Amino acid sequence: MKSEGILSFGSRIDPRFKVMVIYKDSIFYETVKRSLEDLDNSIGAIMPGKGIIVIDGERVEEEGLSDNHLLAIEAHEIAHERLGHDGERNVEHEREADELAIKILIALNRKEAASLLKDREETLQ
Ligand SMILES: [Zn+2]
Repeated sequence: MKSEGILSFGSRIDPRFKVMVIYKDSIFYETVKRSLEDLDNSIGAIMPGKGIIVIDGERVEEEGLSDNHLLAIEAHEIAHERLGHDGERNVEHEREADELAIKILIALNRKEAASLLKDREETLQ
């Protein structure tokens, strides 16, 4: 459901998590954008312990990301949480999160989303 520049829905990976796709017309957009830029210009992030995944909606549109891309981002961010990564991100954490996310997606039979993570270089962090 999109309201005031935010599309929010329960995660398809784990319903305890909420996904919020934030667009420019949201009053939170600039704050979210700056936080994501501080995370190596990531397209999404998880608020540790809060169960909320935020995704830059403008980049979703600009980059023409599909629903499978969104699922891949959800799985990756949930993997960070399950691995206990909080705050600082580094190459090792990103690799671990991708590896777990791929397992999660394959277990859910979402092979297309899993293969996006296998293929990705640096667009999804
Ligand atoms: Zn990450």
